[in-house]
Amino acid sequence: MMPGDMYDFNLNYIADTIKRRRAGTVGLQFPSGFARMAIEISEKIREHTGSTVVISANSCFGACDIDCGLLESVDLLFQFGHAEIPNLRVENVVAIEVESTIDLLPVMEQAIGMIGDRVGLLSTAQFVHRLPEVQRYLREHGISGVISRGDARIAHPGLVLGCNFSSATPDCDEYLYIGTGDFHALGVALATHKPVRIADPAMNEIRKPDVDRVLRQRCAAIERALDAESVGIIVSTKIGQFRESLAFGLREMAEQHGLDAHILIADMVTPEALLPFDVDVFVSTACPRIAIDNTAIFRVPVLTPPEFEVAIGERRWGDLVFDEIA
Ligand code: SF4
Repeated sequence: MMPGDMYDFNLNYIADTIKRRRAGTVGLQFPSGFARMAIEISEKIREHTGSTVVISANSCFGACDIDCGLLESVDLLFQFGHAEIPNLRVENVVAIEVESTIDLLPVMEQAIGMIGDRVGLLSTAQFVHRLPEVQRYLREHGISGVISRGDARIAHPGLVLGCNFSSATPDCDEYLYIGTGDFHALGVALATHKPVRIADPAMNEIRKPDVDRVLRQRCAAIERALDAESVGIIVSTKIGQFRESLAFGLREMAEQHGLDAHILIADMVTPEALLPFDVDVFVSTACPRIAIDNTAIFRVPVLTPPEFEVAIGERRWGDLVFDEIA
């Protein structure tokens, strides 16, 4: 634990791992939410192990986003804040999930009375280890909480990623997402078409993700792309987002529909990076959050692959699905 914090950075485990693996140089990777802790953690690791520590200043959006350049120059790379992706195991990368120790009781007391008698329980790396505790609490109140196993991209039962909702059990009428932020809950709602409530222990509130607003935005983006004559199909070089064959398949499909189609490859997909490319629409095969979360910041519509298929008439509107990575 870090003093005064409600997150467990597992420093003893890190020190033991470094000593056991005899790592002389270690790298640290943090998502932006934990980056403020990086220097303090780096100093503690150095003090306790004598290792040389290097902090990555590159992005760390998920376990999909391993700093492969840094990995080449260190013996071990600790990636904080995400659960590992089992079908993407990379040698010498160690996931430190940074579990939250916050008291869930206040927010769970609010959830009782708002939810039905059978709910699917979901969370992210910070709270997923608390789901059995939530399940017990619900059971004491006559509610059945279902925790379900996901596919090979999912490390723990009940864990959701912004690109994978396979642990959302179909065997319930609604979901309770324990965590902060709205995107994961929004993704669950879009992927399952079932109601989702967010039990946010940090804000101590129950809320619903704004599904209608996002659906309106996505429909508007697809409509703007209906008359597109050219498309840039984005491939991310991030190791767990790299979907090259999907991109080449989309290019072939676009060309069959008479579009001028180009593959663009990038590490960071930003408005600045895409600015020089004069196309009518982009399709992102990278993290689905790029299209859905950041829709307003790009000059032209950025669609997910299923949305692009709708825009060119390869898929019916009614068959639109959330873009998930297996
Ligand atoms: S692709 Fe996006 S949502 Fe999926 S793990 Fe990576 S950062 Fe998270």
